[in-house]
Amino acid sequence: MGARILAGAPAAQAILAQASQRAVKLPDRPHLVLVRAGTDPASLSYVRGKQRHADIAGLRSTVHALPESVTLPELLALIATLNADRDVHGILIQLPLPAHLPVALLQEAVDPRKDVDGFHPLNVGRLWTGGGGSDHPLLAPCTPLGVLALLRHYEIPVAGRRAVVVGRSDIVGRPMAAVLLGADATVTVAHRQTSDLGAVTREADVLVVAAGQPWLMTPDMVRPGAAVVDVGIHRIPGDGHQLHLTGDVHPEVANVAGALTPVPGGVGPLTVAQLMLNTVIAAERQIDWRAV
Ligand code: ADP
Repeated sequence: MGARILAGAPAAQAILAQASQRAVKLPDRPHLVLVRAGTDPASLSYVRGKQRHADIAGLRSTVHALPESVTLPELLALIATLNADRDVHGILIQLPLPAHLPVALLQEAVDPRKDVDGFHPLNVGRLWTGGGGSDHPLLAPCTPLGVLALLRHYEIPVAGRRAVVVGRSDIVGRPMAAVLLGADATVTVAHRQTSDLGAVTREADVLVVAAGQPWLMTPDMVRPGAAVVDVGIHRIPGDGHQLHLTGDVHPEVANVAGALTPVPGGVGPLTVAQLMLNTVIAAERQIDWRAV
């Protein structure tokens, strides 16, 4: 018995290939600027991974690494400069930021046309209002778009089916629900206050788990044959002193689910690939600067 394993790499490669094919058609190579602050090791490693993928997709990237002590006015001034720079197509503020910085305010300062993370309220609003049509591609958050691309790559039907999203974060859960709704699923969002989580998740044909809780989803909480997407990533003690990567979904769910993403190697590669495609989309739109 075993679920079909939905590896992220082939779907991620298809997205990167699309990004590079579209990038070469542009007058200038799309330019992604990554802004980070402080010494958080996760922020450092995310930025390195994004730069590496920008190279793979044939995009330019620049990092602004600021000290832990950077002030809000200094960051706002940098963002204003990047917004005004016609040679910058995408701006990403890498999280986590030092605790004294107001994340939402900084995200709102980014020009929505350059908001490749899709976190600006204008882009969030457009995502929930159903988007602007095919001639007006959305800048939407990368992980949810990556998850949808993964489901499409493996031809897992979404339209008309029951989708349950566990987690309601601004980065994953909420936009994931909007993306699934846009793909015509019947969507339920579960969260920390949901009573009888298992009863809700057992309803799912497509179950996306983004709760930040190792092994929250156990086999009894999954409908036999369901497609399960695990967005969590955690370092837990393994055999001996080794740390081992695992997700929000217990490995034994593979005995119940019809399909399951692995951790690592599932959703992770898709998020960063989608960021490259979002940067290309932003650059395409900026050819006609009047398009918002
Ligand atoms: P992520 O970055 O994966 O989205 P966050 O820590 O930002 O994670 O958000 C966690 C989300 O998961 C929250 O919306 C919270 O309500 C939900 N969550 C956390 N624990 C549980 C739980 N035990 N049951 C259901 N939902 C949970």
